[in-house]
Amino acid sequence: EAEEVYCIGCGAKIQTTEKDGTGYTPQGALDKGLEKGEVYCQRCFRLRHYNEIAPVSLTDDDFLRLLSQIRDDDALIVYVVDMFDFNGSMIPGIHRFVGDNPILLVGNKDDVFPKSMKRSRMKEWLKQQANAQGIRPIDVLLTSAKKPDEIETLLNTIEKYRKKRNAYVVGVTNVGKSTLINQIIRLNNGTQDLITTSRFPGTTLDKIEIPFADGKMLIDTPGIVHEDQMAHVLTGKDLKYVSPQKTIKPKTFQLSDQQTLFFGGIARFDYLRGHGAVSTYFENNLMVHRTKLANADEFYDNHVGTYLTPPDEDGLEKLPDLQRHELHLENRSDVVVEGLGWITVPEHSTVAVWAPKGISVVIRKPLV
Ligand code: GDP
Repeated sequence: EAEEVYCIGCGAKIQTTEKDGTGYTPQGALDKGLEKGEVYCQRCFRLRHYNEIAPVSLTDDDFLRLLSQIRDDDALIVYVVDMFDFNGSMIPGIHRFVGDNPILLVGNKDDVFPKSMKRSRMKEWLKQQANAQGIRPIDVLLTSAKKPDEIETLLNTIEKYRKKRNAYVVGVTNVGKSTLINQIIRLNNGTQDLITTSRFPGTTLDKIEIPFADGKMLIDTPGIVHEDQMAHVLTGKDLKYVSPQKTIKPKTFQLSDQQTLFFGGIARFDYLRGHGAVSTYFENNLMVHRTKLANADEFYDNHVGTYLTPPDEDGLEKLPDLQRHELHLENRSDVVVEGLGWITVPEHSTVAVWAPKGISVVIRKPLV
């Protein structure tokens, strides 16, 4: 059997078969690397040469090992969540692995929200949502990985709470963690000295470490896959289409009962009882189609994948059937389709929200 080779960047065991796995290197690159006596996995290679981080998936065992290391370290936890998908950003049982370490909660994708929304209110909302999940952050911060100037504020805040300790950046996939880390690396100017060059033989811990001035590290951990994420029901293309890239312009409808809104072919909202202004917060390009509830089933069957898109034709095969959730709302509330967007519904309403099977529908206090 061939001798085991480890990446000199991250220490992962090199393998040439699983593209999305830890330590993946194309065979050609491995041969070249062996000749030169320095083998990098594709992820570290890209990081060195293009300032770019490729996502990897870890097996549960590797991941748990990495997480228990965080608990044993006296460190600051930088917990990145997606402001547009707060519930989908929750790491199940986070306390189990961060232990008593303080958490700085970072709400990313702030740019998706209109400027007119008060940031102080959004921060307060974020804190309340976290508390409701049993998380008591030492501070909350809004940021946008797409805005380089905000990264400096983020780094200064990390510095303030780090108190000469390591900081671990944690988050589920798709919250924008890689984009943030890439910005931090850019801010640090170049990559050459940033990757650890030590080896960890026999381990497959895949992590990026960026040194602070005092020698402690900012450690990026792999994204945790949240079970009911949109990524499981949409193709990559459709997922991209529904992910807001720009500031959201909410759409408001005056609805009376027995009316239906379709959100492409991915979600559906039936107003069963009540009336008033219903506001929808989804990617601006996602079509909202209004129809009569009585015709809605037939309309959907006839048009999903053709007129009601996404999904496109390929996506239709992957998309599970929509599941109906009937809700009665005493107070004005947001009804969230996790990972897709939300609908703000007036008080005293009875509604049915349809979402792909496996995608959660949750009620929360209105963000706006
Ligand atoms: P990761 O899986 O957490 O590492 O997430 P990525 O960095 O790959 O980002 C996931 C998606 O969110 C990509 O489509 C990014 O372009 C987008 N994204 C990341 N950060 C931001 C942000 O601050 N604002 C907006 N609008 N999109 C973002």
